[in-house]
Amino acid sequence: MKKNIVIIGGGTGGMMVANKLARQLQEEINHDEVEINLISNTDQHIYQPGYLFVAFNEKAPDHFIRKQQSIVHRNVRIEYDEIEKIVLEKNIIISAKKEYPYDILLIATGSHLDFQSVPGLQEGAYNFYTFEGAMELRDALVELKQGKILITVDVPHKCPAAPLELALMLDDYYRKRGLRENVQIKYTYPIGRIHSLQPVSEWAQPEFEKRNIELETFFNLEEVDPKRKVAMTMDGQEHDYDMLISIPAHKGAKVILDSGIGDEIGFIPTDRHTLKMIGSDNVYVIGDATNLPISKAGSTAHYQGEKLTLNIVNRIKGRPETAFYNGKVACFLENSLEDASMITFDYETPPKPAATSDLLHWFKTVYGELYWLNVRGIL
Ligand SMILES: Cc1cc2nc3c(=O)[nH]c(=O)nc-3n(C[C@H](O)[C@H](O)[C@H](O)COP(=O)(O)OP(=O)(O)OC[C@H]3O[C@@H](n4cnc5c(N)ncnc54)[C@H](O)[C@@H]3O)c2cc1C
Repeated sequence: MKKNIVIIGGGTGGMMVANKLARQLQEEINHDEVEINLISNTDQHIYQPGYLFVAFNEKAPDHFIRKQQSIVHRNVRIEYDEIEKIVLEKNIIISAKKEYPYDILLIATGSHLDFQSVPGLQEGAYNFYTFEGAMELRDALVELKQGKILITVDVPHKCPAAPLELALMLDDYYRKRGLRENVQIKYTYPIGRIHSLQPVSEWAQPEFEKRNIELETFFNLEEVDPKRKVAMTMDGQEHDYDMLISIPAHKGAKVILDSGIGDEIGFIPTDRHTLKMIGSDNVYVIGDATNLPISKAGSTAHYQGEKLTLNIVNRIKGRPETAFYNGKVACFLENSLEDASMITFDYETPPKPAATSDLLHWFKTVYGELYWLNVRGIL
């Protein structure tokens, strides 16, 4: 009987796996034994790491956008629809328009910024984690020639390195404009060091100190007063700013919360090696949507996608599922507008930042172009 593979979410993880499956199950698709349905609530695909470069006007915003139709394999049926409910007992997902039955489901719904988590944040803070946010920040940075920039971060959030990178790039940006003396940069983090991974924190802290970027740890934002330009923390302190840049805590997709299949913030309990949803044999989870205690990053989705594809292909072909995800993540760390470090790590091996070089910055830029081959399932 024909097998119906359904994928919710056409972002990094969902689109890549759909395209890889389409290539590797070509024969089964041609013989009408398998169909691949990708449900995406947007017709655009954005390479999110590009936001960092948009904020500093290093690249035009549209450089990082493609139409979904232009990157999806012809053997994938793409449908633009918003899934509202996942009903595991019936093997169906439901939108306002229709029901989609599945034999195998891949949940690739990502993570989302919760601007409501702190009163005043939506109105008072800039961010570079959304397309519009990155452009607004770009324009505001051009205008800001003196004053205090306060950066706040809440957890969990995707790309754990990006806020650090922003601070280091900001320093370089103002140095290059000859305005660094006039601009104070303060970086804050909610725990007792400046990054959740200790080796990254140890790499970044001396860089910050060298460049006079002020640091404050155990900084937990409670409220923002945009009129007074004051950020209030849970310990009762007030911090004034001229520009506030915030990365709010993330949560899972609304459909996960509404379907009652995630934890309290909407991330799905997932087996760390098989990437199956806990308690289910035919539902897989990828990327930011999992509850795994690893970085929510595109590279995570990439490495997971390779294993998931192998297992789903094996399953369809009647072979055992023997690919296991080992927690692999790879991340470039921009150190300025011109040089970068890099880390790779997994469940067993902690990260060790590589020596900073302009070559690694160049690799990060090149990866931004190769991404489009990657997400097409070619790389
Ligand atoms: C500023 C910034 C910098 C970053 N830098 C890096 C980096 O340098 N390296 C790195 O590895 N990662 C980086 N990331 C993180 C990376 O972009 C994400 O971790 C990655 O996109 C996660 O892939 P995903 O498929 O899980 O989710 P996403 O790519 O976010 O895709 C989820 C998709 O699901 C769709 N969706 C959600 N709900 C529904 C629904 N109900 N119905 C239909 N569709 C739905 C969404 O619209 C979206 O298209 C960065 C992110 C940001 C914001």
